[in-house]
Amino acid sequence: MECDKFIRFSESLCATDRKRVHTKPVRLFSAMIALAGSLWAFGGCAGPTPSPAPVIVKRTQMQMGTLVTITAVASDRQAAQEATSAGFQEIHRLEGLLSTWIKDSELSRLNAAAGTGAVPISPETMQVLEDSVKISMLTGGGFNILIGPAVDVWSVLDRQQIPSEAELAAIRSLTDLGSLYLDKKHGAVKLNKTGMRVDVGGIGKGYAADMAVAAMRNAGATAGVVALSGDIKTFGLLPDGQTFPFGIRHPRREGAILAFIDLQDEAISTAGDYERFFERDGVRYHHILDPATLQPARDCQSVTVVAPDGVTADGLDTGIFVMGRERGMALIEQLPGVGAVIVDRDGKVWVSSYLRGRVRMNEEGAGQ
Ligand code: ADP
Ligand code: MG
Repeated sequence: MECDKFIRFSESLCATDRKRVHTKPVRLFSAMIALAGSLWAFGGCAGPTPSPAPVIVKRTQMQMGTLVTITAVASDRQAAQEATSAGFQEIHRLEGLLSTWIKDSELSRLNAAAGTGAVPISPETMQVLEDSVKISMLTGGGFNILIGPAVDVWSVLDRQQIPSEAELAAIRSLTDLGSLYLDKKHGAVKLNKTGMRVDVGGIGKGYAADMAVAAMRNAGATAGVVALSGDIKTFGLLPDGQTFPFGIRHPRREGAILAFIDLQDEAISTAGDYERFFERDGVRYHHILDPATLQPARDCQSVTVVAPDGVTADGLDTGIFVMGRERGMALIEQLPGVGAVIVDRDGKVWVSSYLRGRVRMNEEGAGQ
């Protein structure tokens, strides 16, 4: 790949010092948070010399085009509130860099300059692009931040039409990662052809979750969760010493939980074919595209990845969805501290060895 020349892949993907995590279904988690909070309050009243009770504050806002829920545990209400505010502010800041909906974001300016020359870029955006390319290489090109023009041609929610081969062929060269040049030394990025564009929709929410967690820690939170829809990162423990519980959504049963998992200082993220799709002649056409064919990836219904950080979990869920169950699972098994739950095209559930014994199937929600 040409971009190899421009990037040093010195860091281990999983050894990144920025921490990140995600998940999709949070209903169970919400209930548990409420329960944990009330149990703690009772415990606090029982002792002879009660120490200040940790407080849990949970707030939700629309950010990055999705519902963001931040939960902070801190020594008092003000500290917990300040930590949630710090998390939201951090995500807002990142939107200004990475959103392609905001006209003067750094990525929008890069995309507008496609085909004209190199554009200066902040070290932080460069890092997100480098992480993205690393995930591309790990997933054999399954993850591809240049897929945007193909996503537009499909427009699965608006257009609901299957594009012709000619339409897809016309934009194919724009999705070639070899035409993305990252010049870290000079802090510049070049998109070689007019019409190319970078879209970090498959990884940016994981990055935002990681960075929001860092901001919350700095603001004094002892534990918490940042959930950008299905991209979730946790840190610390609940006040009663419990880990944070999550449910993994069933890809075919609306509102049902497929399995449960507890997380501590981990991220969880799910890519599924059930969020944005249309059906034609019994075939589901969804929003995760295989860069090799520019068609919706066919081998999985959902891929949930647990990793030490959100960037890894978010990037890998999309990339492994494209790779398919067999190759995807083989990759997961090689990555330390990373696990996956894959629901394959037939609805069969596969759990990687790292998560075996941690994932509890929901007997009511499981099955096809
Ligand atoms: P979400 O949580 O929004 O469903 P995902 O992590 O599943 O996010 O990523 C889906 C988004 O990633 C799509 O909306 C699209 O913009 C982008 N995308 C689609 N196919 C790919 C791909 N092969 N590589 C990288 N990004 C992709
Ligand atoms: Mg993703």
